[in-house]
Amino acid sequence: MIHKIEVEASACIGCGTCWVACPQAFKEQDIGDDLKALPTGDLGDQLMMRSAAEGCPTLAIRLFDESGKMIYPTEAAIADLDAASRW
Ligand code: SF4
Repeated sequence: MIHKIEVEASACIGCGTCWVACPQAFKEQDIGDDLKALPTGDLGDQLMMRSAAEGCPTLAIRLFDESGKMIYPTEAAIADLDAASRW
């Protein structure tokens, strides 16, 4: 179960997928010429949060369970992104 969300600002490209997919948990931050995602501090629907994280093209969203264990991105998702970036 998702208990905490973090967004790696340096990896976020401001595409908006997350705040559209789950506005309860993500919001946009205007940083001048660009946008970045921020956690709202609230949790949304579990499936919507997971879907938002899985839809992030740069894996900038990290999901943690109650014990503090990172449950997303998975090793498989990281490997897939690494493989795609080698094209
Ligand atoms: Fe940033 Fe990922 Fe959200 Fe896009 S989906 S705004 S890259 S955190």
